[in-house]
Amino acid sequence: MRTAICPGSFDPITLGHLNIIRRAAKIFDHVVVLITVNSGKTRPMFTIEERADMVRRAVSRYPNVTVDTSDILLAEYARRYEGAVLVKGLRAASDFEYEFQMDLINKNINPQLETMFLTASGKYTFLSSSVVREMARYGADLTGLVPDELKAEIEAKAKTWLK
Ligand code: ADP
Repeated sequence: MRTAICPGSFDPITLGHLNIIRRAAKIFDHVVVLITVNSGKTRPMFTIEERADMVRRAVSRYPNVTVDTSDILLAEYARRYEGAVLVKGLRAASDFEYEFQMDLINKNINPQLETMFLTASGKYTFLSSSVVREMARYGADLTGLVPDELKAEIEAKAKTWLK
């Protein structure tokens, strides 16, 4: 059984993330959406538990997708699934530079670990969690950016976040 791991901070999950997860789920037997603690980022909008809960609801219609959280190195986590592959979305040249570096670091720790990239859908090339957080802070409508069932929750959180 081939497992794909889609890692990220998912703060919050966007339709861009979901697009990659859905496509990975068609290619692989099992997809683990892995929510990681990103110490480099400024104050998160949602706690890791809240993010996991939101991702679980967003992927509930995909039977071969599961959700997990981790605070260990991704290259170490991947050892839990034999032959696991990291699957990531590529939006722009800037993503490529970063991802190339990450792959080299991961291979140093776990030489068996491969990373595959799916190109971002044209609709979502400019979509990121930080765009969603910023738009939500200013009270913008999040339709078409995040899963419909999570929209109200993200908009509500934005009213108290960083205040
Ligand atoms: P973000 O970059 O939005 O803060 P994450 O750090 O959670 O998100 O990213 C997790 C993964 O999802 C990365 O591989 C990233 O390239 C991918 N990703 C994020 N947004 C998109 C998008 N709009 N289209 C395709 N892939 C995306």
